[in-house]
Amino acid sequence: MSDKTFEKKDTGRKRPTCAERRPTRSVMVGGVQIGGGAPVAVQSMTCTRTPDVEGTLQQIRELASAGADIVRVTVNTPDAADAMKAIVAQANMPLVADIHYDHKMALAALEAGIAKLRINPGNIGSRDKVREVARAAKDRGVPIRVGVNRGSLHKRYRDLQMIDPAGALVQSALDELEVLAAVGFDDVVVSLKSSEPHEVIEACRRFSEVSDVPQHLGVTEAGTLHAGTARSTATLGVLLSEGIGDTLRISLAADPVYEVQAAFHMLQALGLREGYARVVACPTCGRVEVNVMELAAKVEELAKDLPPDKVISVMGCIVNGPGEAKSADLGIAAGKTKVAIYREGELHRNIDKDDLESVLMEEIQRLRG
Ligand code: SF4
Repeated sequence: MSDKTFEKKDTGRKRPTCAERRPTRSVMVGGVQIGGGAPVAVQSMTCTRTPDVEGTLQQIRELASAGADIVRVTVNTPDAADAMKAIVAQANMPLVADIHYDHKMALAALEAGIAKLRINPGNIGSRDKVREVARAAKDRGVPIRVGVNRGSLHKRYRDLQMIDPAGALVQSALDELEVLAAVGFDDVVVSLKSSEPHEVIEACRRFSEVSDVPQHLGVTEAGTLHAGTARSTATLGVLLSEGIGDTLRISLAADPVYEVQAAFHMLQALGLREGYARVVACPTCGRVEVNVMELAAKVEELAKDLPPDKVISVMGCIVNGPGEAKSADLGIAAGKTKVAIYREGELHRNIDKDDLESVLMEEIQRLRG
């Protein structure tokens, strides 16, 4: 044992815990509140071509059924802006129009009835265009997200970016908020994104110390399903655990439904949102008596519509199986020839392995009530 004793040092920096949210102002996106103490809102973005109205609506429905609160859609062409009218009319949830370069697309998206605009100050062009968009958004009561990205910071921040990348993100956002405030627009959300986790963490912390504008969290270009989920949740988990963040997107190079699922698993782990019923699955080892990987994936799929407080454990053998199974609403512990089924902590029955799938379906149905 080391002769050094661990001493808790006071760093002088007081940070709220994840249960204690940093106070931010409230912004309404359609019927969804962001900030002002509301639950952290989960967002994703469609990856269809927006003029494909049916395909885009289908993806919006899939994201809504996975639990997304808000969905963003690119409005990058006049055809996309035209399509937004039909999409907004049928989507049944708040939609955000994502605008780059052409401020006319923002004006057209407002006409189409979108619930929020996302503009990137680095590439929207002159500040007159930003002011024109802000005035139109104000007339319609539509909030704007100022989405600052490391990869597209305006050239006026280039020198600062070289010496203080997080500071450049914060400065760009603050300057843009000032431009909006000058035309009386303060219905805003800010995002400070980078593909570098430490820059995101630093920028979001610094911004939260100087502004009560709600923050949209995200790591941009985070990566593929597994790498991107790890990178995003490691970053956002730090911020959320300090009480920072009012809405978020886990950006993945994968089906956007996974973005929503990953977001809910993360928020649930932090105790910030109820997500899905929890499937406890053993990591498997050489003792495993059933295919836990397949089984757990199947159970996770079947359990998606269960109440989020339910716990199902899938254990591959009898070493830790009975113990874990006993603390779940439904537990499965595989033996050599039989599988033990536990209900609410009690051994309910032993079944043949061949019957496992059908018994699982029945048991999960029972949990649906
Ligand atoms: S429960 Fe059994 S099979 Fe699963 S990891 Fe533990 S010892 Fe291995």
